[in-house]
Amino acid sequence: MSTLLISDLHLTEERPEANERFIALLEEKGRAADALYILGDFFEYWIGDDDLAEPFNAVVAGLLKDLTRRGVPVYLMHGNRDFLIGEGFCAETGSTLLQDPTVVDIAGVKTLLMHGDTLCTDDLDYQTWRRKARDPAFQAAFLAKPLDERRRQVHQMREKSKQVVQEKTAEIMDVNDEAVRAALRSHGVRRLIHGHTHRPGRHAIEVDGKRCERWVLPDWYGRGGYLQVGSSEPKLVRF
Ligand code: MN
Repeated sequence: MSTLLISDLHLTEERPEANERFIALLEEKGRAADALYILGDFFEYWIGDDDLAEPFNAVVAGLLKDLTRRGVPVYLMHGNRDFLIGEGFCAETGSTLLQDPTVVDIAGVKTLLMHGDTLCTDDLDYQTWRRKARDPAFQAAFLAKPLDERRRQVHQMREKSKQVVQEKTAEIMDVNDEAVRAALRSHGVRRLIHGHTHRPGRHAIEVDGKRCERWVLPDWYGRGGYLQVGSSEPKLVRF
């Protein structure tokens, strides 16, 4: 038995390969798993739980619902694309929303889970935008708009952000080492799992003389994959 962790699937109708891989993962591994953790950016974007009826969203929600009905707990953390997922989505799918960060026990190891964007402290523009986007008043104003208007605004933002991202150096968009150390230290853990940076791998890091590890989940824009955590070493599996 093992726990599966995924993130950055960026599910959208526009990339059927990722959707098919997700369905295959659920069928081949998910149903037998102890739990499924989705650490953010499950959807390419989420404009509010009142968009659950949209056909693609309804299909994806149905997949999670099927899994939780089979008795596999699904834990969901917000990413920078789908932070408007709310209690309505969770109730519909039977999943549980996790705060970012959260410490959980996975296979006997105290593990810090994050989406990862808060670790990218060198990206000052992004952190400014994040503060605004997470402001309840900003979210309430956005959610009060008609769905079509919200969708239009999100598409506009995505186009703008593509341009901005191209102009930024790779270092700025990766995690800041000190932010990683601070997170491990303040939560008293030696294992951190996150996504967001699209640089999958295992990184060894020493914090106050203790050997710690940071696992980065793969994004599904590329091949995609997942982290499997059981009684032995975690295994990063790429499709
Ligand atoms: Mn992200």
